[in-house]
Amino acid sequence: MTDEELIEAATAARDKAYARYSGYYVGAALFDEQGATHVSCNVENAAYPLGSCAETGAIAAMVAAGGTRIRKIAIVGGAGEIAKCTPCGGCRQRIKEFADGDTLIIMRNDDGEWARYTIDELLPESFQLP
Ligand code: ZN
Repeated sequence: MTDEELIEAATAARDKAYARYSGYYVGAALFDEQGATHVSCNVENAAYPLGSCAETGAIAAMVAAGGTRIRKIAIVGGAGEIAKCTPCGGCRQRIKEFADGDTLIIMRNDDGEWARYTIDELLPESFQLP
């Protein structure tokens, strides 16, 4: 799975996002250690705190399918145009739970500009249990 293919999968998931309150549509696609791809989108709720992020859904799909490690994850989002969409703080911690320090988080905007970070770059000194 190339970075481009992963971005395309995330973009397709973004098209299904339920973001009627914020208008900020997000899609995520991850590639796991078994070679499987899992996608999701953000799902908002009238009771705002109950909404869930795209990354959260993709991680849950991976776990439900028996995956245990994220090899790389692509995230696309924005209102209208796709912007470089970095994971929120909570999702950085969720990704870290199933990632190695060098697991890639990939973003691309509609202008074709790429950003790639490792999870350790996005969440240094993260909380972990032994
Ligand atoms: Zn999030």
